[in-house]
Amino acid sequence: MRILVIEDEIGLAEAIGAILKKERYSVDIANDGQSGLEYALTDDYDCILLDIMLPKMNGLDVLSYLRVKEIETPVILLTAKSETEDKIKGLDCGADDYLTKPFSTGELLARIRAATRRRGAVDINPKYGDITLEMKKGEIICGNKSISLGRKEFQMLELLISNSGNIVTKEQFVKKIWGYNDESEYNNVEVYVSFLRKKLATLDSKVQIKTRRGIGYCLDGAK
Ligand code: CA
Repeated sequence: MRILVIEDEIGLAEAIGAILKKERYSVDIANDGQSGLEYALTDDYDCILLDIMLPKMNGLDVLSYLRVKEIETPVILLTAKSETEDKIKGLDCGADDYLTKPFSTGELLARIRAATRRRGAVDINPKYGDITLEMKKGEIICGNKSISLGRKEFQMLELLISNSGNIVTKEQFVKKIWGYNDESEYNNVEVYVSFLRKKLATLDSKVQIKTRRGIGYCLDGAK
């Protein structure tokens, strides 16, 4: 899953980014409202953490604009204690939830899980054929065997499972996992697919990652 953090306190934004990466989320950070809006409009995120007081464009304006543009990504507002009124306005503008600063890591993660679950973005432990992706431990389980995955491998398999049966293009992988506009990463997709194939083979799983030449990849072996 990919999360956008729009927060102008650079230390806080980076701390949130580090926490989320440790939990195997992909993260992009924007430090002002205008660039945050630009990122958010790509519609590549599963959740947006949005500060209210931001330079260039305030968080509530960013949120209203997104909803007008029919971008329905779950938004969690990050608010200071003094901004109670903004909190209410925010919920009226289409925010899904809010967190009052300072918040604990546990609370942040729980709110993200709740917001993405409500939108149906994730199954807690995604399954396909004989494999289950164990979100907490970052492992694939197949029968009584399991194997741990690197962060990128994990994100790629998660994306393949959530599109089960359908093709995921290289472009979709790059956008979701490496981030917006990073074309230098196209070749890495193949490398990570080959890592994943080896791990599936080690598990004796019937699930295979098929190449659709010139298009992308899809899972096979559900039956
Ligand atoms: Ca701020």
